[in-house]
Formats: sequence, C-alpha cells, structure tokens
Amino acid sequence: MKKVSIVGGGGNVGASAGLYLAERGVADVLLVDIVEGVPEGKGLDLLEAGPVRGYDSRVSGTHDIADIAGSDVVLVTAGFPRKPGMSRTDLLTKNAEVVGGIAQSIKKHAPDAFVVVVSNPLDVMTYHMRKITGFPPHRVMGMAGILDSARFRAFIAAELGVAPTDVQAMVLGGHGDSMVPLPRYSTVSGVPVTDLLPAETVNRLVERTRKGGGEIVALLKTGSAFYAPGASAIQMVEAILLDNKRLVPAAAYCDGEYDLRDVYVGVPVILGAGGVEKIVQLPLTEAERQALHASAAEVRSSIEELGG
Ligand code: NAD
Repeated sequence: MKKVSIVGGGGNVGASAGLYLAERGVADVLLVDIVEGVPEGKGLDLLEAGPVRGYDSRVSGTHDIADIAGSDVVLVTAGFPRKPGMSRTDLLTKNAEVVGGIAQSIKKHAPDAFVVVVSNPLDVMTYHMRKITGFPPHRVMGMAGILDSARFRAFIAAELGVAPTDVQAMVLGGHGDSMVPLPRYSTVSGVPVTDLLPAETVNRLVERTRKGGGEIVALLKTGSAFYAPGASAIQMVEAILLDNKRLVPAAAYCDGEYDLRDVYVGVPVILGAGGVEKIVQLPLTEAERQALHASAAEVRSSIEELGG
C-alpha cells in the first residue's frame, strides 16, 4: 500500500484531507502534527470509521515527523492563520519558518517523496518548500487552483441550476485576490459559460470566486475553509498515486512557461506518477496574460521579501 503523510494533519484542512483520502482506500494515511495527542486521536478516530464507511486504509497519527519515512507523498497543511494585529509580512515570516522546518524534515526522512503544499501564502510557501528541500520542481507543487476553480464551478452550477460535476472551470495565477479565473475556458459539458450566461453575471461569479476564501472566513468567524481545500488537495495526491494524468490548475514552478521565470504560480498542469509531468500552455488574450503576469509579480515580490 502507498503511504501518504499529512503534516499539519491535526488541523482542519489536514484532518479533512485525511478523511477524504482514507475513504478512497488508495493509501495508508499518517496524520502528523506538533500538537501531541491530536494527530494520534484523529488518526484513531478515522481508523475506527473504516468499518462503518467501508474502507481498509490504515490511518494513524504521530507527533514525531521522523515517522514520515517511506511516504510516497507528503501533504503539507501546517501553518498559522493571520491573527489580529499581525502584519502580512509577520505571517509570511512565521509560516516560512514552519514550512522551512518541515521541508528540512522531508528532505531528511522522505527524500524521494512528492510534496503537495497547502499552507498559505500558497505560492510563496511552495517556492520555499522547493528551495529548502532542493527537490526537482516536478516533485513539489502547491494546491490552490483546484479549490479556486471548484468554487467557480459551484457558483456557475448554482446560477444555471445544473449539476456541479458537469461544470468545468479554469483559474490561473496566485492564490489570492489577484487570481485569474478564465470564463472562456469554463464550460458546462463542453458549452462555454460565456454562451450560457450574460457577461455581467459571469463577472459577478468571477468576483465571488476571487473572494471565496474571505466569504467563508466571514461566516465562520474563527478559522477558514477546510472541506473544499481538503478535497482539492486529495485530488492532487490521488492523481500522483494513481498516475491518472489529471489536467488541473496547480501552483507549479515556471521557468520560461508563460514567459514567467523562477516563480511558483497557478497554471494548468498534467499530474501523474511523475508529479507535475507537464505545464500546459493555453493561448491567452493580452488581458489574461497581463493579469497572470501581475499575479506572478505579487508572488515574486513576497519571495524576495523572504530573501529570494
Ligand atoms: P489549522 O490551524 O486548523 O491547522 C494547522 C495545523 O498545523 C495545526 O494543527 C498546527 O498544530 C499544525 N502545525 C503548526 N506547525 C506545525 C509543524 N511545524 N509541524 C506540524 N504541524 C504543525 O489551520 P487549517 O485551517 O487547517 O489551515 C492550514 C493551512 O492551510 C493554513 O496556512 C491555511 O491558510 C492554509 N489553507 C490553504 C488553502 C489553499 O487553497 N491553499 C485553503 C485553506 C487553507
């Protein structure tokens, strides 16, 4: 059986991802967290759900990161949310410390693993993970685009009254307000949404997608979204484990693609047993290209804030 470790697995996104993955029955799942007892407890709880839900995945938890040894994929969901009074730069530095420490451990204990990063700020943390592990870029990627496009898909489906699974959407760029939803490449069973909805409705749904994370934070008051993020992360993990060559948006290392250099940003990729097997280069309009470059420039400036 393949092994997947979820670092930050005691938290909301990590534990949800653990549940979704266990239910697929394609890997053993290890929840790893610094908080003693929580990953062990949630791991045991998930193991005990198996007989009822009908899965045989072995789920367990640990607070010793050395236990990630032998992992095929390490999913990293560890990180702190922004607290009142904390600046963006403070958060960037704090999460870079967390992700940097985890990167050292992955390099030491699971040197052959693929790494999927979820921690925010996503694109910068993914860059940092690759830099510290020194892994080849195809083995380190970030999850944001599947979530952002899932939100766009859900909003389009609700607006049209159609099945959400019949809606496909593409969202490029960094994970944040500067993301670039592409309505031209978003369809209902192959029919472009731009042929099904008036431009102003499409624009409204695009704006809601851009602010999708904030909408949930405002409702929850404490904490941020975790079910859709957990599910989205597992789609990436599963694509690697099962080599199913999904074409999805993901934060991938661009070095020339889309005329972007030395930056992680959301682009369409083919995900399979080789990790990011290919970055798919879509023809973009000038406005789309500029929006992608502006978004990547924001990521690049945060990377430089962290020392390049
Ligand atoms: P959470 O606070 O519920 O969980 C975070 C967990 O990380 C906690 O259990 C904490 O103990 C653990 N942790 C902290 N430092 C650690 C370390 N060094 N080693 C192991 N575990 C450690 O938060 P959450 O809601 O699960 O969110 C987790 C991260 O995911 C945040 O950075 C959040 O912003 C990000 N996120 C990203 C997306 C995305 O689309 N990329 C979506 C949602 C959340």
